[in-house]
Amino acid sequence: MAQASVDRTLCVGCGLCIELCPAVFARAEDRTAFVQLQAVPPEATRCCQEAAAACPVDAIAVSETEN
Ligand code: SF4
Repeated sequence: MAQASVDRTLCVGCGLCIELCPAVFARAEDRTAFVQLQAVPPEATRCCQEAAAACPVDAIAVSETEN
C-alpha cells in the first residue's frame, strides 16, 4: 500500500492532482488539494504517482508502506 500527503503550505491550487487522480485527491474550500484516503488503494497508486510527478510545486509526497 502507498500513502500520499499534500503539503498545503506549498499547494497553489492548480487542480492537476485532482484531475489526474480524483480517487485520492480532492479540493478543499480554500482551493488547495488534500488527500481523502488514508491508504492509497493499489489501483490508484499509479495515478497518485503521476499526480506527484505533475505537481508544479512538488507538494505531493507518496510513500510505500509495509503490507
Ligand atoms: S498538483 Fe500540486 S499544486 Fe496542484 S492542486 Fe495538487 S497539490 Fe496543489
